[in-house]
Amino acid sequence: MDATQEREFAHQRALMVERHIAARGIKDPRILKAMKEVPRHKFVPQVVASKAYGPGALPIGSKQTISQPYIVARMIELLELTGKEKVLEIGTGTGYQAVVLSRLCAKVFSIERINELALRASELFRELKVYNATVKVFDGTYGWSDQAPFDRIIVAAAAPEVPEPLVQQLTRTGKMIIPIGSGASQKLARITRVGTGIQIEDCGAADFVPLVGRFGWKE
Ligand code: SAH
Repeated sequence: MDATQEREFAHQRALMVERHIAARGIKDPRILKAMKEVPRHKFVPQVVASKAYGPGALPIGSKQTISQPYIVARMIELLELTGKEKVLEIGTGTGYQAVVLSRLCAKVFSIERINELALRASELFRELKVYNATVKVFDGTYGWSDQAPFDRIIVAAAAPEVPEPLVQQLTRTGKMIIPIGSGASQKLARITRVGTGIQIEDCGAADFVPLVGRFGWKE
């Protein structure tokens, strides 16, 4: 890709942040800066690259989608990152959200169940010189017990209920963002631990692909 084209994408990216993210209420300057910098067009399939900086979700193959830029920003904002956190992401997809996260926390552990998606994402991490994010292929509803506990967990697919292993892998003061529900009736939930139980905050409507696995929807 030539320099003129890269400049055009950078221009579109600034407009995306202005119109579809900042204008919709995301204020954290660190999130806005990260999303102004991460080249989203490299993550989406070439046939939809011209739409990479539009407001919508886009198909990424294997019947999956990359979330709308606003939703990525909103979920990350709800995580309240300071830069020091160890974060677990379930549903790597293209790796776009993981790369945005990698600029806002200490370390990202991301799990994807589809091999081809995980492979492509880790290639992109290398290409973009992102060294604090790693991907593994696994059923993410089990979490990543070798690396637990996590300060934050972000789930990019909708679950029938909060997967218990993920609650167990949160630190005492940890937070998890996860869409709960099916089809058109999903809610974005923020989970915090309180004693031996959890507190659930409703953070609005959501529209994600299903979280499939042992503690998710059955295949
Ligand atoms: N965050 C991604 C988009 C995620 S789409 C991005 O920035 O591109 C949701 C992803 O969750 C899909 O790739 C899907 O394969 C994956 N997924 C669904 N169930 C899963 C599970 N149990 N474990 C890991 N990944 C899962």
